[in-house]
Amino acid sequence: MSSLFGSVLASFLSAIVVAGSAFGQAANPTWITDVTIISSENLDHIGTGSVLIENGHIARVERGPARKKPAGATIVSGKGLFLVPGLIDSHVHLAAVPGVSYEVSLSPAEKKPPMLKRYPEQLPRSYLYFGYTTLIDLAVADHQVLDKFRQAPVHPDLYDCGESLPFANGYPMSFAPPETRFKLFPNFIYDPKQASAIPYEYKPQDHTPAADVASVKRSHGICVKTYFERGFGADRNLPVMGPEVAAEIRRAATQAGLVLMMHANTFEAQKFAVQADVDVIAHGLWNWGDLYKQTELPPEIKDLLDEIVRKRIGYQSTLQVIQGLRAYFDPEYLNTPDIPKVIPAEMLEWFKSPEGKWFKKELADGDVPDATMRQTFDNGPLRRVRLVLAYLASKDANFLFATDTPSSPTYGNLPGLNGYLEMQQLREAGLSLKQIFRAATINNAREFKIDSQVGTIEPGKVANLLLLRKSPLESLDAYDSIVTVWVHGKPISRDSLAATANK
Ligand SMILES: [Zn+2]
Repeated sequence: MSSLFGSVLASFLSAIVVAGSAFGQAANPTWITDVTIISSENLDHIGTGSVLIENGHIARVERGPARKKPAGATIVSGKGLFLVPGLIDSHVHLAAVPGVSYEVSLSPAEKKPPMLKRYPEQLPRSYLYFGYTTLIDLAVADHQVLDKFRQAPVHPDLYDCGESLPFANGYPMSFAPPETRFKLFPNFIYDPKQASAIPYEYKPQDHTPAADVASVKRSHGICVKTYFERGFGADRNLPVMGPEVAAEIRRAATQAGLVLMMHANTFEAQKFAVQADVDVIAHGLWNWGDLYKQTELPPEIKDLLDEIVRKRIGYQSTLQVIQGLRAYFDPEYLNTPDIPKVIPAEMLEWFKSPEGKWFKKELADGDVPDATMRQTFDNGPLRRVRLVLAYLASKDANFLFATDTPSSPTYGNLPGLNGYLEMQQLREAGLSLKQIFRAATINNAREFKIDSQVGTIEPGKVANLLLLRKSPLESLDAYDSIVTVWVHGKPISRDSLAATANK
């Protein structure tokens, strides 16, 4: 699609986001002075400078020593500090609550257990606490949750892919019982071969790839999310789409100007995604199929990764999907010092209780020792996906920072903190600090066509900014050294965003 259309679309959407936000625009301009500016367009010649915020936008960026103070501006001294663009997480699921079943997650507010009452209020704050000022929800399961999020007093900018496009009776609608799955996933793709397994009221013509993409477009989605997944655990051999269906989705998404994303984490699925010419692969390649025992990266996987690099396909590594499961077998996980900052105390208490670990039983039989389970993750999917990422990093692939929070009912994927943990996983897998920084800022902004609004520190963009004590090009600790978060020019002290500050 043309980039002109993309930026028009982005401005249109951004207008909606701004209109829907409760931020009053600061009356006075803000002038951040003598700060080290780190932004993707100047990574090779970083220096200090000053940034003027006016009417929620970046009005001016000056390199070198601060010049004359703009009239009426509030001065924020950035001396010894670092200014970076707000971070973007391009894969979240806001309606799913970590650590509880989907049934509980999606139940009405009045039916939720008391320990979850304060969670929705804390959710946007936790993302901001770790510097995430833009989020993309990939599969809207409950529009009300997203509406509430957008109405919160402070919240990241939120984009979404509307309702996702699973193949009829395939992943992930297969997890819901047959009587409810079509209600939960009304934007599924009809499969004539399964006519007898699709309720009569769903007409084929309303569930073609083109009709489904049009429905995403009507709901103001910026992306289309579909799946290639044969299943795992008890649900293997799920139906998957063929290349013709994928081609139709591709055509419709291109015509509608939407970014096409495919859930794919197996060798077969990522090959399918590349052939289908998707824009974004929504997971790392941790399932190698028959090649799973290979200790080095097999040549056929290298060939596929070369193709992903050559086509500049956006790559969402989402290592925390695996780490988030492993968390149940790590006795130290719930003692992570940042956890009390991102969830209400009563929720953490419940996670520590025996009932709070219900999901652990679904992951392993009670008699398997934790250490054995940790090894299963470490020597299996984590080992494989790290080899993949190290290779992609060596070729400077188009990494898109993405956490898939929460990717399952796990308490190992908590809002905001999960991003910080994902960065540590990426670093361990071999990405450079620069690659991680770019993935979480400009790469995401470009891929999702919101770079006219966010992603760098340049005049005209929305003033979504972070003031840090440390440089993110020197250590990942920088992302946990936030002093101030600006959202549409409104300054918020990091401490005030913590769950511990919200009593
Ligand atoms: Zn996901």
